[in-house]
Amino acid sequence: MAKRIAVVVSQGQSQNPAKRGLEEDIVTALIMESGIEVTVIPHLYDLKADGTGMLALQSIKGNLIVLSWLYERGAHWVLDRNGIHGHVGQTLIKPEDDEDEEEPEATVDKDRVIQHRNIPNRRIYCIDLRVYDTAQPYIDEIKRIANENEQKLVQLGGWLDGTPRPEQVERFAKPTNSTALSVEGSQLEAKTTPAPSDSDNGNGEPVEVIRIEETGGRRWYPVIDYSRCTNCMECIDFCLFGVYGVDKVETILVEQPDNCRKGCPACSRVCPENAIMFPQHKTPAIAGAPVGLVGLKIDLSKLFGAPEEGKSAEEIAALERDEQLVMAGRDAVGMSVGIRKRQEGKSEEPRDELDDLIDGLDELDF
Ligand code: SF4
Ligand code: SF4
Repeated sequence: MAKRIAVVVSQGQSQNPAKRGLEEDIVTALIMESGIEVTVIPHLYDLKADGTGMLALQSIKGNLIVLSWLYERGAHWVLDRNGIHGHVGQTLIKPEDDEDEEEPEATVDKDRVIQHRNIPNRRIYCIDLRVYDTAQPYIDEIKRIANENEQKLVQLGGWLDGTPRPEQVERFAKPTNSTALSVEGSQLEAKTTPAPSDSDNGNGEPVEVIRIEETGGRRWYPVIDYSRCTNCMECIDFCLFGVYGVDKVETILVEQPDNCRKGCPACSRVCPENAIMFPQHKTPAIAGAPVGLVGLKIDLSKLFGAPEEGKSAEEIAALERDEQLVMAGRDAVGMSVGIRKRQEGKSEEPRDELDDLIDGLDELDF
């Protein structure tokens, strides 16, 4: 039968046996499921843009499930930056404490970059592997998504990637009414023959687990959430290491990711829309956690740069940038370059929950 959905398992950065065990338990269980194609890649965030891993992901058409050791938002926008576009697929697997929290949507009255993009008719489901330490919840969720996907495909009458279903091909080749088009010269052909394999899933269907190897170390770079980004260019003004650039239509992008200074999240603190993530940062808010998860009860002291020592997020960002400038043999610039006030002009804009949260932090006396 044709593949219903592709599942990608992104491995952890370390060889942690617990992580590897979970990843392999999931892969092993998926082998027993029909209609699911499994690809195992090194850590998604570390993949090179032109490496085998990204090329493999780019070749996947239709809906996609990606399991990784990253927050959902971080994983989605890493994929997006690498040309793997799609609508956000809703998963029932959420980090603890987030189950009853609705992720505040970016306010719609602002002009967001995402509003100007053509997003293909597919869904990408990003699932955080840190939520459960056993495989079964993930298998259940993958099966739920696959079944939902199957039902939608049946309703639509074909596969989302444009591939006709086998029964459609059959009907086309052997029409049952006299008005049917001739099959001669048709481009319609079945794409249901899986690659050869020496094992099957018990249903006589060959099993494919594609394993991608890629060398290269850990990386560190910002990831932009275009559903929040307003293209204000504050990040490009602030960064003095040439990480940001613009595309042909003058939209901000992370152009030279590997120019970023390892461990520094400075520009995430100056982005007025909290659109910049560092998915490997230890602070959930900076790593792309849902806002509900990083709320007051969880990690107040570290959120957006910590008001410790009475410093604002911009002052902390400037200090972090200075530290990196000095380490690179350059002069510190303090607050004199590329800093505009984070909340400047915000009073004119409708507030969202994130604004309230940030203001609440400012009012607290540490
Ligand atoms: S500072 Fe934030 S909102 Fe402004 S362009 Fe950069 S990522 Fe987008
Ligand atoms: S963390 Fe520093 S070096 Fe990296 S992109 Fe942001 S400002 Fe530039």
